[in-house]
Amino acid sequence: MSHVLAAVAWPYANGPRHIGHVSGFGVPSDVFSRYMRMAGHDVLMVSGTDEHGTPIQVQADAEGVTARELADRYNRVIVEDLHGLGLSYDLFTRTTTRNHYAVVQELFTALERNGYIVKRTTLGARSPSTGRTLPDRYIEGTCPICGYDSARGDQCDNCGNQLDPEQLINPRSKINGETPEFVETEHFFLDLPAFAEAIGNWLDQRENWRPNVLKFSRNLLDDLQPRAITRDLEWGVPIPLDGWRDRNDKRIYVWFDAVIGYLSASIEWARRSGDPEAWREWWSADAQGKDARGYYFMGKDNIVFHSVIWPALLLGYSGEGDKGGEPGELGRLNLPTEVVSSEFLTMEGKKFSSSRRVVIYVRDFLERYDADALRYFIAVAGPESNDTDFTWAEFVRRNNDELVAGWGNLVNRSISMAAKNFGAIPEAVDLTPEDEALLAVAKAGFATVGELIGKHRQKAAIGEAMKVVAEANKYLSEQAPWKLKSEEEKPRQGTVLAVALQVVSDANTLLTPFLPHSAQKVFELLGGEGVHAPMPRIEEVEDLDGGPGYPVLTGDYAVGARWESVPLVTGTPLAAPKPVFRKLEPAVIEEELARLAG
Ligand SMILES: [Zn+2]
Repeated sequence: MSHVLAAVAWPYANGPRHIGHVSGFGVPSDVFSRYMRMAGHDVLMVSGTDEHGTPIQVQADAEGVTARELADRYNRVIVEDLHGLGLSYDLFTRTTTRNHYAVVQELFTALERNGYIVKRTTLGARSPSTGRTLPDRYIEGTCPICGYDSARGDQCDNCGNQLDPEQLINPRSKINGETPEFVETEHFFLDLPAFAEAIGNWLDQRENWRPNVLKFSRNLLDDLQPRAITRDLEWGVPIPLDGWRDRNDKRIYVWFDAVIGYLSASIEWARRSGDPEAWREWWSADAQGKDARGYYFMGKDNIVFHSVIWPALLLGYSGEGDKGGEPGELGRLNLPTEVVSSEFLTMEGKKFSSSRRVVIYVRDFLERYDADALRYFIAVAGPESNDTDFTWAEFVRRNNDELVAGWGNLVNRSISMAAKNFGAIPEAVDLTPEDEALLAVAKAGFATVGELIGKHRQKAAIGEAMKVVAEANKYLSEQAPWKLKSEEEKPRQGTVLAVALQVVSDANTLLTPFLPHSAQKVFELLGGEGVHAPMPRIEEVEDLDGGPGYPVLTGDYAVGARWESVPLVTGTPLAAPKPVFRKLEPAVIEEELARLAG
């Protein structure tokens, strides 16, 4: 039993989610959290939409709306997408809450007080004709790294590297095309080199990390540079220092504010739970959080923020870098236990791209297919440790051959045979070695599958669960209960079906973290009542500190199945089942490919 924080990367609120976004860490973090809860841990799963920064401002400008309006729109869309997938967030919030602003400013203030934030003079762009500062988003030029000719002053959207405006080759103003002049301006930097030793020591003690993540992170330590944490921009968290607080042209950099969201969302969750201090059980590096473990889920392009920069912020806030210092008012904070990064998903061999229409949005997917069909594909063929490709042909094949013909068929034939012949869960008498063997395989699955999920090997974990399904299908074929029709064979028929149904129930529990929607249905088909797999709900809430209201994802996950075999009760009435999964026609593949081709 411990307190488990599942900290899930924050989706950027500039559009709806496509299935690539949710495959790497969205669904896997839910599988992990669901399993951990079933195994008896106190899980806090948090995230939200990341809403500041230049790209949202640029898009809002282009649409003639405010950044806030754009963020409001996509916050809601993303909340609905994640709800549709059944992702069991304790709180999915956003970065534009007043609570988030206050927590970000508290971290900034304490880091500054401890000497880890330094002011530097840099070059900022100015319009020669008007003499006004040009925010980063209004400067365009050629990327010095990849040569892309429309890189922005803060980032190249082609190679993803962060840039400074003066690095651009042939810089130009997007407003009037003139060449900006660069003048000295002040910005704040995080003194990352002051944490190299502390982070190195911490990385040396990490266990169970994926080796590529550890190696990548260690290499980063050799060349740490101070990193800008403010920007020439109006959309973001104000800088909480005298003389800066009221300036409209400088804001805290979006990456700095977003990574603090894990903490601010945990604090918001606690404030909404009625115990405003409850977050400390997952976060405090002192006594309150002594059994806490923090797991961070993200794509591989985000490792640096979680294995180096976020630990640096937490160390500096706790007064534990080269410069020492005192902890801020939240106290000393826990560093991540594990940084779980995923690889990328491509679609029909191409990189996802909304502009090039290589995309399927979560909401469109869920209009045509079941959430568990996608969750199954992600579990068995997602980008857990390699880049993987989503193809419609493979999706349909996996759905039909594995989910429908394997698991769905086992559920359907065992329950319908028992319903037809007994109308209830039959009695098991005089178990044979074959019966005992199958029951043992299912029981053993709890240790095997659980351990694999705990180690973030979900592909292997669902493979083990599906082996139990395959064994049960084989058992039914061999025992052929449909042939046991005579009066004296009836008890044996009942026994075979009772054994099969028990294994269906166990396999269903093993599959619950992966397939929560269908797990609830199978549970009910077996005569279960109440909640087996709890689901999130969308709740419209008030901002806790007087800002505008917003929708959050939350839920009551204390109810539901435990990670154990539960004996079925003989005599529980059974009805003829409706199929739990839908077989897909091969024509679906052509239709979807035609949609992609536009
Ligand atoms: Zn580039």
